[in-house]
Amino acid sequence: MKYFSLNRQSPIVDFKEATILGQAPDKGLYFPEHIPVHATNFIDQLKNSSKEEIAFRVMEPFVGDEIPDDELYRIVCETVNFSFPLKWIHSTIASLELYHGPTFAFKDVGARFMSRCLSYFYKNQSNKITILVATSGDTGGAVANGFLGVEGIEVVILYPSGKVSPVQELQLTTCGENITALEVDGSFDDCQAMVKMAFADKDINDRMQLCSANSINVARWLSQQIYYFLAYQQWEGQTAPVISVPSGNFGNLCAAIMAYKTGLPVKHFIAACNVNDAVPAYLQTGMFSSKPTTATISNAMDVGNPSNFVRILEIMNQDYSSFSSLVSGYTISDETTIQTIREVYQQNNYLLDPHGAVAYAALHQYQQIHTDTKGYIVETADPVKFPDAIKTAIGSEPLIPLAAMELFTKEKRSIPLKNEYASFKDYLLSR
Ligand SMILES: *Cc1c(COP(=O)(O)O)cnc(C)c1O
Repeated sequence: MKYFSLNRQSPIVDFKEATILGQAPDKGLYFPEHIPVHATNFIDQLKNSSKEEIAFRVMEPFVGDEIPDDELYRIVCETVNFSFPLKWIHSTIASLELYHGPTFAFKDVGARFMSRCLSYFYKNQSNKITILVATSGDTGGAVANGFLGVEGIEVVILYPSGKVSPVQELQLTTCGENITALEVDGSFDDCQAMVKMAFADKDINDRMQLCSANSINVARWLSQQIYYFLAYQQWEGQTAPVISVPSGNFGNLCAAIMAYKTGLPVKHFIAACNVNDAVPAYLQTGMFSSKPTTATISNAMDVGNPSNFVRILEIMNQDYSSFSSLVSGYTISDETTIQTIREVYQQNNYLLDPHGAVAYAALHQYQQIHTDTKGYIVETADPVKFPDAIKTAIGSEPLIPLAAMELFTKEKRSIPLKNEYASFKDYLLSR
């Protein structure tokens, strides 16, 4: 498969180069030259297929010849080696739980797939590559875990001191081996700015080969299609599902729409946002404008200018009317989010995290008007990652699962870093 830049000022590349580069030289996002369509018998046979076979069939057309079949099969097996249950909350809304991976959030899938592709591409290279990533929470943990122990790859994570949750911090700082966590005395935006400066810094690029594990990377983006097929394998509705995706940077929803274009049956999509609602506003008005970011309790969705919006427009052939007839946007306040967690817990004995609660509230509102529909929410994180919001909603903190308990027995190791680029540069050059 070939990929072009959506800014259309860069050369066309293959899957390997798109994955290594992350972003095109003209700063555009990569997009596949054509959208493959699955044979209808693949969809018909989902129920009789294994999750590994499904994952392989979904990814194979997007990877093409860049990875041999047996290697790609191994990569997808390692990508999906945990469960993806679709659980009914009540008779019209189910929850696709994507948090049973190592860092308890859906980003494990994309990070695992990308890390294994990169390590395949770099297998026989003599020089090491260094992955630089800034995180506000979930990305760092998923990337650290995805690359842990992978030969030839060093990972340097920058995170804002005091601004990630305890579980998130332990996931970043207790890996050891090839993973280093820099604890920055600043905000997420400061971390992000330093990473961007390093990528543009000649002294650093002369000395080391840098690579980004950013969420716009095609390997992360496209592998998120896999679990929408795994959900349909478990779907028992008479008609296709309405899918509600809690969205921030819109990579996840964009992957779901791509899956639909390749043949996955879907009735309708819901773009569920907190007050950072540039896309729902676009769906209302037909005009897109980014907004300054507002902090909310579903903080992984606090994105004012979602990168993947341009990709969704491209899938929709830049056509507002086909976009707005396939996707509905909803804006959910923190107050409604808390109330939703409380009500669903009391009425259905199901505990949502704040992101899943945004998706639930949006789907619930949609079903008030479209009364004959059934659908599912994408539950993107384990509630245990957000103890404060859960405590506000139900009066007690969620029980910590065994796998997370283990984290609390490990020692945090981070390198404190001043909020200035010179310190970061010195650190990188002294490695
Ligand atoms: C990253 C994240 C999101 C937002 O996903 P996008 O692909 O950026 O829209 C939602 N929920 C959780 C828990 C996340 O970590």
